[in-house]
Amino acid sequence: MRAAVYHRPGAALTIEQVATPRTSTGDLVIKVRCCGICGSDLHMADMHGPESGMAPLPAGTVMGHEFAGEIVEVGQHAGDFRVGELVTAMPYLACGSCVACQSGVGYRCARAVYSALGQERGAFAEYMRIGAAETFRLPAGVDDIRGAMVEPLAVALHGINAARLAAGESVLIMGAGPVGLACAMWARFFGMRDVIVSDYVPERLAMAERMGATATVDAGKQNVIGSFKREAGKRPDVVIECVGLPGTQQLAMDYAPMGGRIVILGVCMAQDRFTPVKALTKELTISYAYMYRRQEFQLAIDLMDRGRIDPGPMLTRTVGFDEFPATFEAMKRDKTACKVLLLT
Ligand SMILES: [Zn+2]
Ligand SMILES: [Zn+2]
Repeated sequence: MRAAVYHRPGAALTIEQVATPRTSTGDLVIKVRCCGICGSDLHMADMHGPESGMAPLPAGTVMGHEFAGEIVEVGQHAGDFRVGELVTAMPYLACGSCVACQSGVGYRCARAVYSALGQERGAFAEYMRIGAAETFRLPAGVDDIRGAMVEPLAVALHGINAARLAAGESVLIMGAGPVGLACAMWARFFGMRDVIVSDYVPERLAMAERMGATATVDAGKQNVIGSFKREAGKRPDVVIECVGLPGTQQLAMDYAPMGGRIVILGVCMAQDRFTPVKALTKELTISYAYMYRRQEFQLAIDLMDRGRIDPGPMLTRTVGFDEFPATFEAMKRDKTACKVLLLT
């Protein structure tokens, strides 16, 4: 099968023939229909480690963890899934029966194998092996393109849940990448009075408005907290950090009010420094949110199916295998694109 293969930090992915996966016990093989490029894929492809605290990707890795596809092979003990069903899945294979798996956090399972990080190939490929316990059927109202956007919606929903929002609050979302945009969508959905998104890229701020932001701030031209206070009449009750660069956690602390809440969703893979006394004297509640619960993945699917949420505005374009490596390289620098999907 064809796949986009990673070889070394900073080098472009190459399209190659690799072995097509087969099922074993408790898993499925899908024909991938589409897979989104995630900011973390772009980071991982350039990461030399060990300064990031994470191991660099092994040569030969096939990334891609935001996907939808059609079942082509059902393994033994893979439940009642059938060939031909359109599905998406959480990007790991876990045991499905331990306490972590049963409570919806299978990525904490001692036997979990992450897809797309080296051990198990991801969805920048024609076929992919997924765990039956991690798989979700896509209902009629969710096509393959939207199915591939469930994962980033679930990441954002997990962050929103960590923020413990109450209807009528005012939220600042730092960063209008896919996760920041999805946070804006959820914050609007859950009834926030002000959903204000800051970013440096005008194209992304325009998308934020289409995704539900009540106002946006161009952080390159305007003072973020000054603009927020003019719009909302106060500092943000909650700051959701979706940038993940050194310095952004300090900014979130600076923006938060006394007793405020901060949720960190940005994946910062570099050393950072901040002044804890700022958070201490403000008595901030700072939460870090990672991955998602099974229930959050399912809720994103159900609400899309009922037409109550729509991630459509954050889709920039789709590309085929031939254009894929160059598109992937360009996205490391050009931040005007938002969600780009590989159609396999
Ligand atoms: Zn992702
Ligand atoms: Zn388990």
